[in-house]
Amino acid sequence: MIILVAIKRVVDYNVRVRPTTDQSGVEISNAKMSMNPFDEIAVEEAIRLKEAGIASEVVVASFGVKQCQETIRTALAMGADRGVHVETEVELQPLAVAKLLKTIVDKEKPGMVILGKQAIDDDANQTGQMLASLLNWGQGTFACNVKVDSDKVIVSREIDGGTQTLSLKLPAVITTDLRLNEPRYAKLPDIMKAKKKPLETLTPEDLDIDVSPRLKILKVSEPPKREAGVMVADVTELLDKLRNEAKVI
Ligand code: AMP
Repeated sequence: MIILVAIKRVVDYNVRVRPTTDQSGVEISNAKMSMNPFDEIAVEEAIRLKEAGIASEVVVASFGVKQCQETIRTALAMGADRGVHVETEVELQPLAVAKLLKTIVDKEKPGMVILGKQAIDDDANQTGQMLASLLNWGQGTFACNVKVDSDKVIVSREIDGGTQTLSLKLPAVITTDLRLNEPRYAKLPDIMKAKKKPLETLTPEDLDIDVSPRLKILKVSEPPKREAGVMVADVTELLDKLRNEAKVI
Protein backbone atom coordinates (compact mmCIF):
# COMPACT_ATOMS: atom_id res chain seq x y z
CA MET A 1 0.00 0.00 0.00
CA ILE A 2 1.23 3.48 -0.91
CA ILE A 3 0.67 6.18 1.71
CA LEU A 4 0.36 9.74 0.45
CA VAL A 5 1.24 12.51 2.92
CA ALA A 6 0.40 16.18 2.38
CA ILE A 7 3.01 18.58 3.74
CA LYS A 8 2.72 22.34 3.85
CA ARG A 9 5.52 24.89 4.09
CA VAL A 10 4.49 27.37 6.77
CA VAL A 11 6.03 30.07 8.95
CA ASP A 12 8.04 28.33 11.69
CA TYR A 13 6.04 27.94 14.89
CA ASN A 14 8.66 29.93 16.83
CA VAL A 15 8.21 33.04 14.69
CA ARG A 16 5.97 35.74 16.16
CA VAL A 17 3.95 36.87 13.17
CA ARG A 18 2.33 40.29 12.78
CA PRO A 19 -0.32 41.63 10.41
CA THR A 20 1.01 43.62 7.46
CA THR A 21 0.59 47.40 7.83
CA ASP A 22 -2.38 47.40 5.45
CA GLN A 23 -3.96 44.50 7.43
CA SER A 24 -4.37 42.48 4.25
CA GLY A 25 -2.45 39.49 5.59
CA VAL A 26 0.48 38.41 7.73
CA GLU A 27 4.04 39.70 7.34
CA ILE A 28 6.18 36.70 6.44
CA SER A 29 8.95 38.14 4.28
CA ASN A 30 12.31 36.93 5.64
CA ALA A 31 10.56 34.77 8.28
CA LYS A 32 11.93 31.29 8.94
CA MET A 33 9.77 28.69 7.19
CA SER A 34 9.37 25.02 8.18
CA MET A 35 7.19 22.00 7.63
CA ASN A 36 3.80 22.40 9.32
CA PRO A 37 4.26 20.57 12.69
CA PHE A 38 1.15 18.39 12.21
CA ASP A 39 2.53 17.33 8.82
CA GLU A 40 5.80 16.21 10.43
CA ILE A 41 3.63 13.95 12.58
CA ALA A 42 1.87 12.72 9.41
CA VAL A 43 5.21 11.90 7.74
CA GLU A 44 6.41 10.12 10.89
CA GLU A 45 3.26 7.99 11.06
CA ALA A 46 3.55 6.99 7.40
CA ILE A 47 7.22 6.03 7.84
CA ARG A 48 6.35 3.96 10.92
CA LEU A 49 3.67 2.12 8.91
CA LYS A 50 6.29 1.40 6.26
CA GLU A 51 8.78 0.21 8.87
CA ALA A 52 6.07 -2.08 10.27
CA GLY A 53 5.71 -3.64 6.80
CA ILE A 54 2.19 -2.25 6.31
CA ALA A 55 3.04 0.38 3.69
CA SER A 56 5.26 -0.25 0.67
CA GLU A 57 6.03 3.36 -0.20
CA VAL A 58 5.60 6.82 1.32
CA VAL A 59 4.92 9.63 -1.16
CA VAL A 60 4.87 13.24 0.06
CA ALA A 61 3.17 16.12 -1.75
CA SER A 62 3.55 19.84 -1.25
CA PHE A 63 1.93 22.64 -3.19
CA GLY A 64 3.07 26.24 -3.48
CA VAL A 65 6.19 28.26 -4.23
CA LYS A 66 9.48 26.72 -5.41
CA GLN A 67 10.87 26.58 -1.85
CA CYS A 68 8.28 23.87 -0.99
CA GLN A 69 10.90 21.56 -2.46
CA GLU A 70 13.02 22.18 0.67
CA THR A 71 10.08 20.95 2.76
CA ILE A 72 9.79 17.88 0.54
CA ARG A 73 13.53 17.20 0.96
CA THR A 74 13.08 17.36 4.75
CA ALA A 75 10.37 14.68 4.55
CA LEU A 76 12.58 12.58 2.24
CA ALA A 77 15.40 12.88 4.78
CA MET A 78 13.04 11.66 7.51
CA GLY A 79 12.42 8.53 5.41
CA ALA A 80 9.74 9.23 2.77
CA ASP A 81 10.51 7.64 -0.61
CA ARG A 82 9.57 10.25 -3.17
CA GLY A 83 8.01 13.68 -3.51
CA VAL A 84 5.56 15.53 -5.72
CA HIS A 85 5.69 19.32 -5.94
CA VAL A 86 2.94 21.30 -7.61
CA GLU A 87 4.45 24.72 -8.13
CA THR A 88 2.36 27.87 -8.03
CA GLU A 89 2.67 31.42 -6.74
CA VAL A 90 -1.08 31.51 -6.01
CA GLU A 91 -2.00 31.60 -2.30
CA LEU A 92 -3.65 28.18 -2.08
CA GLN A 93 -6.87 27.75 -0.11
CA PRO A 94 -7.99 24.38 1.32
CA LEU A 95 -10.39 23.56 -1.53
CA ALA A 96 -7.65 24.07 -4.13
CA VAL A 97 -5.26 21.91 -2.09
CA ALA A 98 -7.90 19.18 -1.73
CA LYS A 99 -8.53 19.21 -5.50
CA LEU A 100 -4.80 18.97 -6.26
CA LEU A 101 -4.46 16.11 -3.77
CA LYS A 102 -7.37 14.30 -5.39
CA THR A 103 -5.63 14.33 -8.78
CA ILE A 104 -2.53 12.84 -7.15
CA VAL A 105 -4.65 10.22 -5.39
CA ASP A 106 -6.30 9.32 -8.71
CA LYS A 107 -2.83 8.78 -10.22
CA GLU A 108 -0.98 7.14 -7.31
CA LYS A 109 -3.89 5.10 -5.89
CA PRO A 110 -2.70 5.22 -2.25
CA GLY A 111 -4.41 3.10 0.41
CA MET A 112 -4.30 6.00 2.83
CA VAL A 113 -3.76 9.76 2.74
CA ILE A 114 -2.41 11.38 5.88
CA LEU A 115 -2.60 15.15 6.42
CA GLY A 116 -2.10 17.44 9.38
CA LYS A 117 -5.29 18.34 11.22
CA GLN A 118 -4.56 21.98 10.43
CA ALA A 119 -1.91 24.22 8.98
CA ILE A 120 -0.60 26.57 11.68
CA ASP A 121 -0.63 29.55 9.31
CA ASP A 122 -4.29 29.66 8.22
CA ASP A 123 -5.63 27.34 10.99
CA ALA A 124 -8.32 26.31 8.50
CA ASN A 125 -8.68 22.64 9.51
CA GLN A 126 -10.52 21.93 6.25
CA THR A 127 -8.30 20.22 3.71
CA GLY A 128 -8.51 16.62 4.99
CA GLN A 129 -12.27 16.81 5.33
CA MET A 130 -12.68 18.32 1.85
CA LEU A 131 -10.40 15.68 0.33
CA ALA A 132 -12.37 12.83 1.97
CA SER A 133 -15.54 14.34 0.56
CA LEU A 134 -14.10 14.73 -2.97
CA LEU A 135 -12.88 11.12 -2.88
CA ASN A 136 -15.97 9.80 -1.13
CA TRP A 137 -13.67 8.03 1.37
CA GLY A 138 -14.05 7.68 5.12
CA GLN A 139 -12.14 10.10 7.34
CA GLY A 140 -10.50 9.84 10.75
CA THR A 141 -9.65 13.37 11.82
CA PHE A 142 -7.56 14.50 14.87
CA ALA A 143 -5.98 11.02 15.09
CA CYS A 144 -4.01 10.14 18.22
CA ASN A 145 -3.68 6.42 17.37
CA VAL A 146 -3.71 4.61 14.03
CA LYS A 147 -3.74 0.84 13.63
CA VAL A 148 -4.17 -0.95 10.30
CA ASP A 149 -6.12 -4.19 10.55
CA SER A 150 -6.19 -5.93 7.11
CA ASP A 151 -8.63 -3.89 4.99
CA LYS A 152 -9.58 -1.53 7.84
CA VAL A 153 -7.87 1.17 9.85
CA ILE A 154 -8.74 1.74 13.49
CA VAL A 155 -8.36 5.42 14.36
CA SER A 156 -8.62 6.92 17.84
CA ARG A 157 -9.60 10.57 17.66
CA GLU A 158 -9.08 13.39 20.11
CA ILE A 159 -12.46 14.81 21.04
CA ASP A 160 -13.51 17.17 23.84
CA GLY A 161 -13.01 15.38 27.13
CA GLY A 162 -11.79 12.06 25.74
CA THR A 163 -11.16 9.94 22.67
CA GLN A 164 -13.41 8.32 20.11
CA THR A 165 -12.35 5.16 18.23
CA LEU A 166 -13.50 4.56 14.66
CA SER A 167 -13.09 1.69 12.27
CA LEU A 168 -12.68 2.90 8.68
CA LYS A 169 -12.62 0.89 5.49
CA LEU A 170 -9.45 1.47 3.48
CA PRO A 171 -8.70 3.57 1.51
CA ALA A 172 -9.24 6.39 3.99
CA VAL A 173 -8.16 9.92 4.88
CA ILE A 174 -6.53 10.55 8.25
CA THR A 175 -5.56 13.85 9.84
CA THR A 176 -3.04 13.95 12.67
CA ASP A 177 -3.29 15.41 16.15
CA LEU A 178 -0.36 16.30 18.40
CA ARG A 179 -0.31 13.13 20.47
CA LEU A 180 -0.11 10.66 17.58
CA ASN A 181 3.68 10.37 17.71
CA GLU A 182 6.92 12.30 18.15
CA PRO A 183 8.52 12.95 14.76
CA ARG A 184 12.15 11.89 14.31
CA TYR A 185 14.98 14.24 13.38
CA ALA A 186 16.66 13.54 10.08
CA LYS A 187 20.28 12.37 10.43
CA LEU A 188 23.00 13.97 8.32
CA PRO A 189 23.60 10.90 6.07
CA ASP A 190 19.83 10.74 5.43
CA ILE A 191 19.80 14.44 4.52
CA MET A 192 22.51 13.70 1.94
CA LYS A 193 20.65 10.63 0.64
CA ALA A 194 17.41 12.63 0.36
CA LYS A 195 19.00 14.86 -2.28
CA LYS A 196 19.00 11.88 -4.67
CA LYS A 197 15.44 10.71 -4.01
CA PRO A 198 12.90 11.32 -6.83
CA LEU A 199 10.98 14.61 -6.82
CA GLU A 200 8.38 15.16 -9.53
CA THR A 201 7.46 18.77 -10.33
CA LEU A 202 4.15 19.74 -11.86
CA THR A 203 1.93 22.80 -12.21
CA PRO A 204 -1.82 23.16 -11.51
CA GLU A 205 -2.27 23.51 -15.28
CA ASP A 206 -0.63 20.09 -15.85
CA LEU A 207 -3.29 18.66 -13.53
CA ASP A 208 -6.04 20.81 -15.04
CA ILE A 209 -7.03 22.28 -11.67
CA ASP A 210 -8.23 25.85 -11.18
CA VAL A 211 -6.54 26.95 -7.94
CA SER A 212 -7.80 30.53 -7.89
CA PRO A 213 -8.97 31.65 -4.42
CA ARG A 214 -12.68 31.35 -3.64
CA LEU A 215 -12.57 33.34 -0.40
CA LYS A 216 -11.33 36.90 0.06
CA ILE A 217 -9.57 37.91 3.28
CA LEU A 218 -11.03 41.23 4.34
CA LYS A 219 -8.82 42.05 7.29
CA VAL A 220 -6.18 40.52 9.55
CA SER A 221 -5.67 42.15 12.96
CA GLU A 222 -3.91 41.40 16.25
CA PRO A 223 -5.95 40.49 19.32
CA PRO A 224 -6.54 43.43 21.70
CA LYS A 225 -3.60 44.11 24.03
CA ARG A 226 -4.02 42.77 27.56
CA GLU A 227 -4.18 45.51 30.15
CA ALA A 228 -1.53 45.53 32.87
CA GLY A 229 -2.51 43.92 36.20
CA VAL A 230 -2.83 45.83 39.50
CA MET A 231 -1.61 44.85 42.96
CA VAL A 232 -4.27 44.79 45.63
CA ALA A 233 -3.52 45.44 49.29
CA ASP A 234 -5.63 42.67 50.78
CA VAL A 235 -8.42 40.16 50.24
CA THR A 236 -11.09 42.75 51.06
CA GLU A 237 -9.90 44.99 48.24
CA LEU A 238 -9.70 41.98 45.89
CA LEU A 239 -13.28 40.99 46.69
CA ASP A 240 -14.42 44.57 46.25
CA LYS A 241 -12.81 44.78 42.78
CA LEU A 242 -14.19 41.40 41.71
CA ARG A 243 -17.65 42.41 42.90
CA ASN A 244 -17.84 46.04 41.77
CA GLU A 245 -15.32 46.46 38.92
CA ALA A 246 -15.07 43.10 37.19
CA LYS A 247 -18.60 42.16 38.30
CA VAL A 248 -17.71 38.48 38.25
CA ILE A 249 -18.92 37.52 41.76
P1 AMP B 1 -5.64 23.40 6.54
O1 AMP B 1 -6.94 22.78 6.12
O2 AMP B 1 -5.21 24.56 5.67
O3 AMP B 1 -5.61 23.75 8.02
O4 AMP B 1 -4.51 22.29 6.31
C1 AMP B 1 -4.65 20.97 6.77
C2 AMP B 1 -3.61 20.07 6.16
O5 AMP B 1 -3.73 20.05 4.72
C3 AMP B 1 -2.16 20.45 6.41
O6 AMP B 1 -1.71 20.03 7.69
C4 AMP B 1 -1.46 19.71 5.27
O7 AMP B 1 -1.34 18.33 5.56
C5 AMP B 1 -2.46 19.88 4.12
N1 AMP B 1 -2.13 21.07 3.30
C6 AMP B 1 -2.68 22.32 3.40
N2 AMP B 1 -2.11 23.15 2.50
C7 AMP B 1 -1.18 22.42 1.83
C8 AMP B 1 -0.25 22.71 0.77
N3 AMP B 1 -0.16 23.93 0.23
N4 AMP B 1 0.55 21.70 0.33
C9 AMP B 1 0.45 20.46 0.87
N5 AMP B 1 -0.39 20.13 1.86
C10 AMP B 1 -1.19 21.10 2.34
